[in-house]
Amino acid sequence: MGLILDLILHPSEAQAIVQYKVWHEPLHAREPENECDTLRRCYELLDLTSRSFSAVIQELSPELRDAVMIFYLVLRALDTVEDDMTLPIERKLPVLRNFHEYITQDGWTFKENGENEKDRQLCIEMDTVILEYKKLKPEYQAVIKDICKEMGEGMAYYSDETISVVTLKDLDKYCHYVAGLVGEGLSRLWANSGLENKKYGELMELSNSMGLFLQKTNIIRDYREDLDDGRTFWPKCIWSKYADDISDLAKVENQSAAINCISEMTCNALEHATDVLLYLSGLRNQSVFNFCAIPQVMAIASLSLVFRNPAVFQKNVKIRKGQACQMINGATNLQFVAEVFVKHARLIHQRNHPSDPNFLRISQLCGKIEQWVIDVIPPISATPKQVAWARAEERARHNGMTVEEQKQADKDMKIVIACVVAFWVGLGLLMAFVAWLLGARYDLAWAELTGRDMPVSTVVEKVVSSQSRSFEEL
Ligand code: MG
Repeated sequence: MGLILDLILHPSEAQAIVQYKVWHEPLHAREPENECDTLRRCYELLDLTSRSFSAVIQELSPELRDAVMIFYLVLRALDTVEDDMTLPIERKLPVLRNFHEYITQDGWTFKENGENEKDRQLCIEMDTVILEYKKLKPEYQAVIKDICKEMGEGMAYYSDETISVVTLKDLDKYCHYVAGLVGEGLSRLWANSGLENKKYGELMELSNSMGLFLQKTNIIRDYREDLDDGRTFWPKCIWSKYADDISDLAKVENQSAAINCISEMTCNALEHATDVLLYLSGLRNQSVFNFCAIPQVMAIASLSLVFRNPAVFQKNVKIRKGQACQMINGATNLQFVAEVFVKHARLIHQRNHPSDPNFLRISQLCGKIEQWVIDVIPPISATPKQVAWARAEERARHNGMTVEEQKQADKDMKIVIACVVAFWVGLGLLMAFVAWLLGARYDLAWAELTGRDMPVSTVVEKVVSSQSRSFEEL
């Protein structure tokens, strides 16, 4: 019912859904009939475990498809162990810490998960995943093993329930373990495949930002769900400014403080937006671009949806299905992605409110996205008005003002310059007038300047006056 109502209100999205369901043709299609049983089973496990990633992974270039699929399954299995609250901690920690070794051992499986654990079957069939892992190129295996080791360590660290996210550094550290590392691993896979610039294997900060932008958006969106599960990833240094307890943000009487808290969380996530655009701008393989771009456009759309939205405290707010299809259909080039980022930055900017303590920072971050797009992709937004707006944003950021203050300061400066010019022009004219009153002959000066003949009477006057001056001098 909700979907039908959405489609009536947004008819263009109905077209996007039809386009995706009927006309979407995978860039690279798998050929299951030519795959061995174990590889086919791995793709079945992928379908069972991942809703959103399965389709995009399967459309990757054949060079990368299996490696990314195995990478996903290994990390999903690791996460299943981490999430299982029925496992005693003294059993869980060594499994998490040694998982990167287990994936190299023929026949290893893990059958100790609780009966209700969603991806239990994947852990039971890890021997099949390991068989396919070992068929990957050694350089792909090395990347998967390295990331698995680091992530296992991180998960073991966060299994300690006394550890909570307090500072922004804690938030970045947590997001690095659960998402940034995935970005780093994928970049190294791109570089090793030869389909992308080798530099991607070294761009660890940008790769980390790709993961952090997605994860931080999810953390804001999942406030309610996480709270109901008895956990939170909103850093205390942020929420404690707006409420005594994280759960108090959901109380109606705290609504205005709570939506300001979302703004500060949004600021923190938006910091990564230009890194995301920069990362995407360097990709050259179409399937890799689509794979990386789709989650990012979804994330910026989600971020603009949750921004100052009190519904976040009551339910899991999600973008409409039609909107998602529109973005999947379009996220095949940098221009579209940049347009989506600019569109949502403007939506955020429109809903920004001067009473919000984060008002200025939000304006600056939205301006930074526009500025990036104008600098890198001029045809999209380079109307004179938008260029002027972005430049005012840039100056405002530099001078620590709001855009309105900067515009007023620009106007004041123009008035001062006009007054100075008018003063000097007026003074010059006044002096010329006084000189004329005292007998200055501008007509003679003009004639001399232009080289025209002077009138006879004037020549006589000139001779007489020069002679009389000579007499006076004598
Ligand atoms: Mg987990």
